[in-house]
Amino acid sequence: RAKEMGKNNYQIYSASLNISSFKLYTLERDLHKAIQNEELYLDFQPRVDTATGKMVSAEALVRWEHPIWGQVSPGEFIPLAEESELILDIGDWVLEKVCSYLQKWSENKSPIVPISINVSAKRFLRNDLISKMKYVLEKTNTDPKFIELEITETTLVYNEETVSQVIQSLREMGIRIALDDFGTGFSSLTYLKNYPIDTIKIDQSFIQNINIAKSDEMIIKSIIFLAKGLDLNVVAEGVETNDQLTFLKQQECDEIQGYLFSKPVDEKRFEQLLKNKVLKVNNSLQNQENIE
Ligand code: C2E
Ligand code: MG
Ligand code: MG
Ligand code: MG
Repeated sequence: RAKEMGKNNYQIYSASLNISSFKLYTLERDLHKAIQNEELYLDFQPRVDTATGKMVSAEALVRWEHPIWGQVSPGEFIPLAEESELILDIGDWVLEKVCSYLQKWSENKSPIVPISINVSAKRFLRNDLISKMKYVLEKTNTDPKFIELEITETTLVYNEETVSQVIQSLREMGIRIALDDFGTGFSSLTYLKNYPIDTIKIDQSFIQNINIAKSDEMIIKSIIFLAKGLDLNVVAEGVETNDQLTFLKQQECDEIQGYLFSKPVDEKRFEQLLKNKVLKVNNSLQNQENIE
């Protein structure tokens, strides 16, 4: 009987394994066609000034509308893309798309905010990054001050001299740099000293433990204290509750990003938010639905 059960367990396990490995197989197979088939698109998630509740910038987040699986999260396909050169194509696609939006919005005389773009280590360290940036900015007539690049600590562990040069060149162009998911990687404080970074984004795993774990609260306090001392802009990611907001206000965290204010929204809805340019603090999710 035990043997039988073992066998059944094995079958259940192997059936589910087959579905997920089939999905993985098709995602990997189809990813290279995603761009040319126009299956990629961008959502935008506002970043809000903690004190005033106004949207001050937004993060561009890539999505893939797959013909079979529907919306696939970047958490699923970005790691696949990073295994090959496809991450470079996706990175360039996102950059061009963001800049063409900025161009469209400024031509329409719409109010605009700076847009943050996630850049993978491979793309960031590729020697054509600077020339590509210059080319796209010029082609779309985009002011570099409207672009912030989000990199992670993982990017910084690579060759120090290369990283330094890239960051320096971007800064000279007027592009800002944010450290994403701060606290989850190889958080060496030396990075903050050695590289001219503008913004630190505290990872959502810490934020979600506000009022739950004292240790996470201490880490958040320390990061904010450090950021202030080093004159860096500090953002809390993944803010979902009013309690979390209250804590972050007390700590004078500069900016907030999270479902409490807005989930990532599509182009249409984001354009409406730009026009209003207010996402009032303390407005709960329900109230948000009324902003048109
Ligand atoms: P990330 O850069 O840390 O982006 C934040 C993620 O947290 C987003 O997930 C966002 O939807 C989610 N999020 C925001 N607020 C909340 C909240 O209040 N609660 C919770 N539970 N989640 C929240 P998303 O869009 O699935 O993106 C996941 C990751 O995929 C990103 O993490 C980023 O590392 C990567 N990614 C997204 N777009 C791109 C891209 O264009 N290029 C590259 N290289 N990576 C990207
Ligand atoms: Mg990010
Ligand atoms: Mg993040
Ligand atoms: Mg993250």
